[in-house]
Amino acid sequence: MKLKSFVEGSWFESSSAGAELTDAVTGETVAEISSDGVDFAAMAEYARHVGGTKLREYTFHQRAEMLGALAKFLNDKKPELYALSTSTGATRTDSWLDIDGGIGTLFVYSSKGRREMPNDHIYIDGPPEVIGKEGTFIGQHIFVPLRGLALHINAFNFPCWGMLEKLGPSLLAGVPAIVKPASSTAYLTAKVFEAIVESNILPEGAVQLICGSTGNLIDHLNCQDVVAFTGSKSTADHLRQHPNIIAQSVRFTAEADSLNASVLGSDAKPGTPEFDLYVKEIVKEMTIKAGQKCTAIRRIIAPENVVGDLIGELSKRLAEIKVGHPGLKDTDMGPLAGLDQREEVRTRIGELIPENEMVFGDLEKFTVTGADKKRGAFLAPILLQSQNPMSDESVHSTEAFGPVSTVVPYSSIDNAVELANRGEGSLVGSIFTHDNEISKRLIQGIAPYHGRVLLMNRDCAKESTGHGSPLPHLVHGGPGRAGGGEELGGIRGVLHYMQRTAIQGSPASIGLVTESNSDPE
Ligand code: NAP
Repeated sequence: MKLKSFVEGSWFESSSAGAELTDAVTGETVAEISSDGVDFAAMAEYARHVGGTKLREYTFHQRAEMLGALAKFLNDKKPELYALSTSTGATRTDSWLDIDGGIGTLFVYSSKGRREMPNDHIYIDGPPEVIGKEGTFIGQHIFVPLRGLALHINAFNFPCWGMLEKLGPSLLAGVPAIVKPASSTAYLTAKVFEAIVESNILPEGAVQLICGSTGNLIDHLNCQDVVAFTGSKSTADHLRQHPNIIAQSVRFTAEADSLNASVLGSDAKPGTPEFDLYVKEIVKEMTIKAGQKCTAIRRIIAPENVVGDLIGELSKRLAEIKVGHPGLKDTDMGPLAGLDQREEVRTRIGELIPENEMVFGDLEKFTVTGADKKRGAFLAPILLQSQNPMSDESVHSTEAFGPVSTVVPYSSIDNAVELANRGEGSLVGSIFTHDNEISKRLIQGIAPYHGRVLLMNRDCAKESTGHGSPLPHLVHGGPGRAGGGEELGGIRGVLHYMQRTAIQGSPASIGLVTESNSDPE
């Protein structure tokens, strides 16, 4: 089966031979992919002139209603999406994060759009500024939708959530999207996309899909367009330096690699609830999605006097993890998304090994249940221990995008802060302590290097959504290595697809522009 792109309102199948996409569990071919033959310039024009024009006819509330209706429609499609998700290596829990998580994001944006945005076309930003002494001349900031398109380039690890979490804010803003999923798991994205088309809920031209390369599309972008990229830092760096992105000042946001740290407070000794919560969270973060989560804990920053106990406890729990066919009920961890991906992770572990000792796991010797270990992209959890955390760079810069994490000992709070920040910018960090003073010092130290920080203790554990779950309400993104972008985060995520303009004039003329927009109802 060759995956089709959705171009100018119709399905397009390339006549060229496509690259083969394989099942993560069996290694068998699932689909082929190629976008050869797509007219990318026409695609961009269609998005702008058909999709953008139609979307902007609706108010924020009307577009929010569409997102809600779409989320409901996709909810009914879940059984077929879950079935296909297994081929990406996802267990039921992994699929829940990807599929239900993606649909949930649409629901949240639908609700936020109706509650926090006006039933109109302009979003008012703050109160008016009185400029003239007599009050006849004032200023007002407004946000209006860009008159371009959003190119959404996504990573392989969340084929459903990755698409929907970007579509929610961009469609709510009134900007049409061209979705480009990562090739290796694009068959699941394409299935979700098929359902979006079938639903007939979105106006014509609101969404298009590229299965395969983006060809020369970036050459056709202009200052009204946005590129929202998720993937590796190297691809992000390459794309943001594209001559046309620079020449046209195309908005470019990236969510990239992240060496996320989790810090255990010195009060959280073995036997305390925080120590137990820490162990549980690390095992979860290492094994959910086989560690292929941009937010996964890669560096376990713990007081040097508890490192021994911690490694002992983690090893005990990791030994209980059942690696196997993701479709089996008692499998805890499925394979990586593909054999290439596994090779990549093994290479990264090789780069980490000289300075970091492998204290749990084995690259070859482990059991796989219900599947052929040789054909599937299986890997067991690997725990490393940093030997020289202050002099070694690899632990702070090498991302093994799999079930791999490294214990990094620290000697003082200042030292813990320094180590966490040596990730040079992360999506998320977490702090496990029941001492609010420790918590305060750590947060002041690490917040500038993080997009989100979880403060975990016994008081919030029951309701906590955990270290690794991005939420539509809160910032997802981070400085530096994490890409320097900010997706999601409530209405701020929507405003990213809009232009902030200061309008100046008399109170009456400005009032006319803004009057129906000031009340969200
Ligand atoms: P990747 O190789 O950088 O690919 C990301 C996306 O970019 C894919 O859709 C890829 O398409 C596309 N791409 C590659 N070269 C391109 C080009 N020249 N022009 C246009 N598009 C291009 O990353 P990945 O392997 O899919 O994902 C793994 C990485 O993503 C990890 O490092 C992880 O940390 C990061 N990640 C970050 C987040 C986050 O939110 N920060 C989330 C998930 C993953 P093809 O697949 O067709 O090459």
